Amino acid sequence: MTECIFCGIAAGEIPAQIVADDPEFLAFRDIAPKAPVHIVVIPRRHVASLAAAADLPEAVRARMPVFLAEVAELEGLGPTGYRVVTNHGPDSRQSVFHLHWHVLGGTLLSDAM
Ligand code: AMP
Repeated sequence: MTECIFCGIAAGEIPAQIVADDPEFLAFRDIAPKAPVHIVVIPRRHVASLAAAADLPEAVRARMPVFLAEVAELEGLGPTGYRVVTNHGPDSRQSVFHLHWHVLGGTLLSDAM
């Protein structure tokens, strides 16, 4: 079993509520949602955070925002809007060190980040 929890989810070793699947990306519901809709989106390939995004193939980097928007649409967030956030390092309170994006919506989100 892999030590990275998100690699474990991507490998199907750790259960998750998958909402979208792609050869390069995976989207699943956050286990502790901070909004009515809270999806975690990961590249299947392990990099620790956005700071290491240059290590991902160009095609993956190019598709990343497109896949994020597809997930938001799939969750019905397009008309009302949504927020996409990624954390890097201690000040951000990053807790899982596999690059991931939080897609948040389903309510009027706080203006405090
Ligand atoms: P971050 O603090 O940006 O590193 O975010 C990590 C996120 O992963 C948090 O919102 C956690 O609730 C979420 N998380 C941790 N473990 C799991 C899991 N097994 N399934 C789904 N989400 C998880």
